[in-house]
Amino acid sequence: MDANNKPHDKAPAGHTMTPEQEERMVQEAFDEVLQGYLRSNHRKKVEVIERAFRFAREAHRGVRRRSGEPYILHPIAVARIASQEIGLGSTSICAALLHDVVEDTDYTVEDIERAFGHKVAQIVEGLTKISGGIFGDKASAQAENFRKLLLTMSEDIRVVLIKMADRLHNMRTLGAQPPNKQYKIAGETLYIYAPLAHRLGLFAIKTELEDLSFKYEHPAEYASISAKIIETEKRRREAYTDFAAPIRQRLDEMGLTYEAKDRLKSVYSIWHKMEQKHIPFEEVYDLYAMRIVFECDDPAREKTICWNIYSAITDIYKLHPERTRDWVVNPKANGYRALHLTVMGPDGNWVEVQIRSRRMDEIAEKGFAAHWRYKIGEGDEESELNAWLRTIKDILENPEPSAIDFLDTLKLNLFASEIVVFTPSGELVTLPAGATVLDLAFELHTELGTHCIAGKVNHRLVPPDHRLSSGDQVEVLTSQNQMPQPQWESFLVTARAKTRLRQALRKLRHPLIARGREMLEQWLADNGLEQSPAVMSKLLGTYHAANRDDLYYQLGADEIVLGEFLVDTLRKQKEKSATGLLRKLLRLSKLSSDEAAEKQAGGEAAPAAPVSTKETYVLRTGADGVSNYRLCECCNPIPGDDVMGFIADDGAVELHALTCERAALLKAGYGPRIVATRWDDTAAARFMAHVRVEGIDRHGILQELIYMISTHLAIDIRRLDIEAESSVFHCDLWVRISDADVATDLCRRILTIEGVQSAARIK
Ligand code: MN
Repeated sequence: MDANNKPHDKAPAGHTMTPEQEERMVQEAFDEVLQGYLRSNHRKKVEVIERAFRFAREAHRGVRRRSGEPYILHPIAVARIASQEIGLGSTSICAALLHDVVEDTDYTVEDIERAFGHKVAQIVEGLTKISGGIFGDKASAQAENFRKLLLTMSEDIRVVLIKMADRLHNMRTLGAQPPNKQYKIAGETLYIYAPLAHRLGLFAIKTELEDLSFKYEHPAEYASISAKIIETEKRRREAYTDFAAPIRQRLDEMGLTYEAKDRLKSVYSIWHKMEQKHIPFEEVYDLYAMRIVFECDDPAREKTICWNIYSAITDIYKLHPERTRDWVVNPKANGYRALHLTVMGPDGNWVEVQIRSRRMDEIAEKGFAAHWRYKIGEGDEESELNAWLRTIKDILENPEPSAIDFLDTLKLNLFASEIVVFTPSGELVTLPAGATVLDLAFELHTELGTHCIAGKVNHRLVPPDHRLSSGDQVEVLTSQNQMPQPQWESFLVTARAKTRLRQALRKLRHPLIARGREMLEQWLADNGLEQSPAVMSKLLGTYHAANRDDLYYQLGADEIVLGEFLVDTLRKQKEKSATGLLRKLLRLSKLSSDEAAEKQAGGEAAPAAPVSTKETYVLRTGADGVSNYRLCECCNPIPGDDVMGFIADDGAVELHALTCERAALLKAGYGPRIVATRWDDTAAARFMAHVRVEGIDRHGILQELIYMISTHLAIDIRRLDIEAESSVFHCDLWVRISDADVATDLCRRILTIEGVQSAARIK
């Protein structure tokens, strides 16, 4: 139950209706619900609705709302909103009528199930759960709870839709609450329910919720803006008529069937704009927008018509050069499509014009709700809805990128597919779900992205790949020493960030590619070789380069060196143009075996008895640090990674990450030498190490330190204490590691950070 529905046993003073009058008022309110339902295109299941009404009326009998009216009027109003403003059917109307019964009376979910069946009971149970657990006093502002809420609600979409109806009615009757409650409920509505309504495509409800919240949070501003809207109404109408006339004439000449109307901004959005731009009411130039909705049977022609209208309008009025928004080709994340432009009207004010087809308009106005609202009555309501809900649930439970993409393409990505975060200046940024600090950085500015070293999320330091949640306040931290990294692409989510990163990398790589190309040409010439396709393909294979530019880059960046050992092979290559895959593999495998042999001399890996591929090979590292396996150079797996073993020529087990490209080749060519492996987690018991770092404080040093520890090293930080005092800092770090070398390595790495004076393990 919501706070403002607290039942009151006593009617407040001034309550004058007789019981008979009250009874009649209740009956009339319910009849209106029923009439509205009968006018809709749902199947007419009147009997069950009437039964639910009688059940709820008896259950809440004698209880009153704070306003003094009988409690039952609240569930009736919720049912009416669910039916008439959201378009739901009999199951939802019953659930809405019964939504507070379990919460507030002695009836149980089982009672509801016996009387109304499983579906209704399930929805009522969902609504009861939300009211108790997630929307408790402390929880309302937490993003994690928001996600949980969505998960709970995705059990049945109707739970959230009825919850919206419940909240809308509570907001409409918020005046009966004491001011502190009003403030709390209004804030929660603005934070959770309005965005949720937006995601659900309930645009009218979203706008009303925002306006109502605003009204209670800022009553004076609300009154002042409302008054000004009324004051300026006549002038605005005239201005719109003048503005629209020549456009209408042109569209008529073009032979279009269309509807054109003016859309007034809501009180809340006017205020939001005034706040954001620090301008008075009079300077909000886009108080109204013109919306043109045209009829078009052929979706393929929609885009052309949009731009034809655009062109017609810009022939008449001067275009604002920076305010054209093409959401036809690139729809918004919630599926919104339209072409927006801003032009200067005859009175010298800028006016926004929104151009949409009828189809785009349906999506824009009703969103997801529209998608299924019109299906009801034709097909099977339940199965249609349930299939959709299953999709949503799957996606919520497995938030993998491809599933999210899938959702995007269906334009049904209302759940958890978009998040809103705040910059330190309070600017709102909308990002797709799963977006990271780095996505935001690139979203704001390429320079911020390329130099991003960490982020501060709700004042806590996080690495650039930290995934953001709705409501987070995010600050991007940069360092001029930071350079864009190719591996960033693996965790970036937005197309914009990926594109900007690639551009930055290309810019960065260009001189190195040129240098590498020169180096290779010189080296080939020195060794009497030609840059033939066979030679190039050999080189690409040897250095695992994706293409020529990649090879040049590796050379130019001194990541690889052209070794003497290649000369002979390449000379032979000139004669034999074709090289078999197995041959190539043999040589590659030998190459790495040679390297391994060198390491062997240093006592790194020790193969014992011949390895059987029939059994799972247990990967161990002894107390002396000697392992019974060898890590391959190409993918460098670390303990815990998903790996496969390959029995090398010397009998040792060589580990490859399952994602390694070479592993794929080995599996294809050397199936019998592949051995299943398992990390021995008992032997390598992890222990806690305490590391102390001290240094001279400088801007960004702690961020660098934390970033290095948390991202560059695969270690588990258990505790981190940092103390900065004037120009020095001390940092105590507790990490769980498998052996001492990890700690040594950690210290060694930390010491490379400029300004760090000492880093050592405390024993
Ligand atoms: Mn309620």
